[in-house]
Amino acid sequence: MVFQAPKGTYDVLPGSAFLAVRDGLLEPAALSGYAYVEPPVFEDTELFARGVGESTDVVRKEMYTFTDRGGRSLTLRPEGTAGVVRAVLEHGLHHGQLPVKLRYAGPMFRAERPQAGRFRQFQQVGVEAVGLVDPALDAEVIALAWQGFSRLGLTQVRLLLTSLGDPVCRPAYRAALAAFLAGLDLDDATRARAALNPLRVLDDKRPQLQAQLADAPLLEDSLCEACREHHEAVQQHLTALGIAYETAPLLVRGLDYYMRTTFEFVHDGLGAQSAVGGGGRYDGLSQSIGGPPLPGIGWALGLERTLLALDAEGIATAQPGLQVFVVPLGSTAKAWAVTTVADLRGHGIATDLAYGDRGLKGAMKAADRSGARLAVVVGDRDLEAGVVQLKDLRGGEQTAVPLTDLHDTISGRL
Ligand code: AMP
Repeated sequence: MVFQAPKGTYDVLPGSAFLAVRDGLLEPAALSGYAYVEPPVFEDTELFARGVGESTDVVRKEMYTFTDRGGRSLTLRPEGTAGVVRAVLEHGLHHGQLPVKLRYAGPMFRAERPQAGRFRQFQQVGVEAVGLVDPALDAEVIALAWQGFSRLGLTQVRLLLTSLGDPVCRPAYRAALAAFLAGLDLDDATRARAALNPLRVLDDKRPQLQAQLADAPLLEDSLCEACREHHEAVQQHLTALGIAYETAPLLVRGLDYYMRTTFEFVHDGLGAQSAVGGGGRYDGLSQSIGGPPLPGIGWALGLERTLLALDAEGIATAQPGLQVFVVPLGSTAKAWAVTTVADLRGHGIATDLAYGDRGLKGAMKAADRSGARLAVVVGDRDLEAGVVQLKDLRGGEQTAVPLTDLHDTISGRL
């Protein structure tokens, strides 16, 4: 039996734009003072239960939780923010310069029903800016994601923006929404969700429910003064930065810790799973995981869906590949090739070698398939004469190059 990857997982295979997309999305953050961090892939289960929120689907149904050999309950991280904020608190990063600006990338795990664009192990890139409340910082964080999508060439990503209020204005709204929902004809499961967190019901995509929600009270209409000012300032900064946003008063995200600025990036070419990323302010998170009051804002973008969006827009992402392929014919040539390849690589030229002594025909086939621009073909007799044959694998022409000029000639031709 040949094993297969577990359901809901996939292999990143040769030719994938995975790395280029991962690094491209984070490039604007890297240029804006967001340092790279990498928390562990598993953490205390309690960190996510408290940090992500007991009422969320993620915590209630989707966590990969296991007991380790020491009897501890651990969970494969379903998202990045709780771990990053835990690391900030544990290492006292917030005692230095604020905001603490961090970026991360890596796999996340949720036991969801797999479908196009939805996996059980999926990859996110993310940023967090911790320690300050400043609407200009919210705008910067949002702009970083926007620029990340743009630098990949995506033009059809839309930004949905709302404010989820704060502990001053949200409780009254929550009560008003609960009262409104009590008057609707809801099934038992939805009623149970409403009891746990009425805002979560707004997120239900079923058309018959959405229709019933048409007259639901909106949080944006009941923001307290401070939240309203903050929300307006964020919008002004975004406009000044040339970032188009759509207000989305029904936007609720799947994690409990969001407050005030909350946003999602969607792409219409993806079908049902249209969110390519999302985030927001989580000023209460630090306290809910045992830390001091410490505001923060961040986002996470999904790599698989960004790749799908690139496909949908017909954007090919160039893969850096091999530049030179060396084909030795004979044992002296092979020994020369082994050191020459190492030398070229040492000079930053992506080089490979025909292993396996397959003869000229097989080795040239390998050279063609390698994707390299140039082939260096060298026999024992060439070496005695102090030359190698340099072949352009696209044009086909071949020239003899003195060994002493090889490096310069290759550099000049690439
Ligand atoms: P969230 O952490 O739920 O805010 O998700 C942020 C982004 O991660 C989403 O917008 C998706 O692009 C991506 N994402 C979330 N869950 C999955 C999943 N199960 N499979 C693939 N991508 C996901």
